[in-house]
Amino acid sequence: STAARQSLRIGLIPADGIGKEVIPAAKAAILALGSDIPNPQFVDLAAGWETFTRTGVALPQETVDILRQECDCALFGSVSSPSRKVVGYSSPIVALRKELDLYANIRPVVSVLVGEKPSVDLIVVRENTECLYVKQEVQTVGEHGKEARATRLITERASRRIGQMAFELANARPRKLLTIIHKSNVLSVTDGLFRETVRSVPTLPGVNGKYDQVTISEQLVDSAVYRLFREPEIFDVLVAPNLYGDILSDAAAALVGSLGLIPSINAGDNFVMGEPVHGSAPDIEGKGIANPIASIRSAALMLRHLGYTKGADRLDTAVDQVIREGKVLTPDLKGTSTTNEVLEAVLRIL
Ligand code: ATP
Ligand code: MG
Repeated sequence: STAARQSLRIGLIPADGIGKEVIPAAKAAILALGSDIPNPQFVDLAAGWETFTRTGVALPQETVDILRQECDCALFGSVSSPSRKVVGYSSPIVALRKELDLYANIRPVVSVLVGEKPSVDLIVVRENTECLYVKQEVQTVGEHGKEARATRLITERASRRIGQMAFELANARPRKLLTIIHKSNVLSVTDGLFRETVRSVPTLPGVNGKYDQVTISEQLVDSAVYRLFREPEIFDVLVAPNLYGDILSDAAAALVGSLGLIPSINAGDNFVMGEPVHGSAPDIEGKGIANPIASIRSAALMLRHLGYTKGADRLDTAVDQVIREGKVLTPDLKGTSTTNEVLEAVLRIL
């Protein structure tokens, strides 16, 4: 594993907006871990809207090449999106997921405050490459006027690998509960394949009873959303095809304090990229008040995925303590502190 290496090489892609303010904070937090992360090497890389306006490409080939050849992992900030469609521009994050085959989007949503109701501690594991996102849409004219169709692709391979990642995550958690999200009462062929394939992961060759302790349950996506709002504490790890996962992970994010708290990773078999869930937040850009916690937690999640458990735990514990103390918080959490003051508070604990 990467953890055995002499150094950890981390690509930094702050991109646009508050990404430029919060990714440096995540870097500083990783550096403060000292010997828990042996000799971290950071590489600054370009991508995003500003890069596009400067160079004509949103994701320079150099960035992809350096990530592939010289980095073990990366942290991505956020991209500003143009308000109307611009010829030649497409989202660099979507392209990066494709280029690096980051097929899983993993988003933990956790409430931290003692006695916070409801008490949420769940992870949404979203398939990131197919479903309706294959973007094969056509419009035709039928007997009664215009008709539009979209192709929804579900493959056994993609369902199996997202299933394996979800079982692995569930098995590492105290409750070991995996909920498969689908709508196979309506889409029995596509969602049927997803559900059956995920269910069959424990019987794959080589698994050898590793997931015996994992409890598997299922939930139709509509009822899952309902229960997520009524009783989120029942969920542990949820695994879903791309579109349901997209909706569920934003819905889950609404259950806790602020977008500025929620981390994610995009993970594949050979690479992992941390990314705060929030966007470029143009309304607060440049004011120095963006909450750096989502990015610091994304760094923790990335390190955990690579096997640096101790470093990841230290980052999460420090952030949790700052939130619980409630003295140094950015305005999105009703505080009056700056990005740097929150970072300083985290660094003091580290
Ligand atoms: P984009 O198109 O880049 O997603 P947006 O206008 O949708 O931009 P988001 O970044 O998605 O903005 O944020 C939505 C709201 O949440 C904004 O009001 C923003 O200020 C706030 N917000 C998002 N992230 C943070 C953060 N890290 N700290 C403080 N507030 C945040
Ligand atoms: Mg947004």
